[in-house]
Amino acid sequence: MDLGLRGKVALVAAASQGLGRAAAFAFAREGCKVAICARNARTLEDAAKAIRKQTNAEVMAIPADISRADGVKAYVDGAITSFGGVDVAIPNAGGPPPGGFETIADDQWAKGWELTFQSTVRLVRACLPSMRERGGGAVVAILSMSVRQPIDNLVLSNSLRLGVVGALKTLAREVAKDRIRVNGVAPGWIATDRTIQLHRARAEKERRRVEEVQAETLQEIPMGRMGTAEEVADLIAFLASDRAAYITGVIAQIDGGLYRGIF
Ligand code: NAD
Repeated sequence: MDLGLRGKVALVAAASQGLGRAAAFAFAREGCKVAICARNARTLEDAAKAIRKQTNAEVMAIPADISRADGVKAYVDGAITSFGGVDVAIPNAGGPPPGGFETIADDQWAKGWELTFQSTVRLVRACLPSMRERGGGAVVAILSMSVRQPIDNLVLSNSLRLGVVGALKTLAREVAKDRIRVNGVAPGWIATDRTIQLHRARAEKERRRVEEVQAETLQEIPMGRMGTAEEVADLIAFLASDRAAYITGVIAQIDGGLYRGIF
């Protein structure tokens, strides 16, 4: 299927590894120019090199902390200056740290807010003028299954991501007339470093072996396996593409059947 993304400019935030990196790969393979960011310049450039090598795409690596206003500005301004505009924005950031309701202190709530909520609002807001100028665009935010079903010991993700969904659903209605679509993906358990970290944290908390915690997770997933970053990336690319031209305001689950809710 031709996704119709060739020649477009895609900004994929937090993309030195994991879901962001896989999404950047997917857009590069589809013929987009891709601008990625992460805090660590070296690992970010390694990711950019790997994507260029495998896809021949133009890939720009802009070191930036997406949880800071100046980081988002440097990233979006840098990409727009080099590529002339933006058509696709993929808000993403590292996941907020684990913890339950009573263990998360005020400063962690404040940091989580900047990392999970403000990073998305700032990135999308900075991209909208260029999308409008170019006659349309697409936003696909990387969220989590936690927006439908809370995950134990992840109160920051369970709470702050719902704010992101509220902001995105509001925006989807505001910018539909400008041919800008706003969607999100809600992954379940996907095999990345983030998942390993969360399993380690849970094993430590419960004084159990990490292998045991991992096996328990797999048992909960009807498909009996974790997803791959590439599977999530394919969904992101589809939602950002012309093939999804009538889809906006949707949060698409990708979780191997894990979420039990009917809607
Ligand atoms: P990951 O830890 O493998 O990768 C995170 C990426 O974000 C890295 O490239 C890191 O350098 C970058 N990053 C972190 N903080 C940053 C910052 N302040 N500024 C710029 N870049 C930053 O994580 P992942 O598995 O790819 O997850 C990505 C997002 O998706 C996270 O928010 C995570 O909570 C969420 N998510 C992941 C899963 C999963 O199973 N992997 C499931 C649901 C939701």
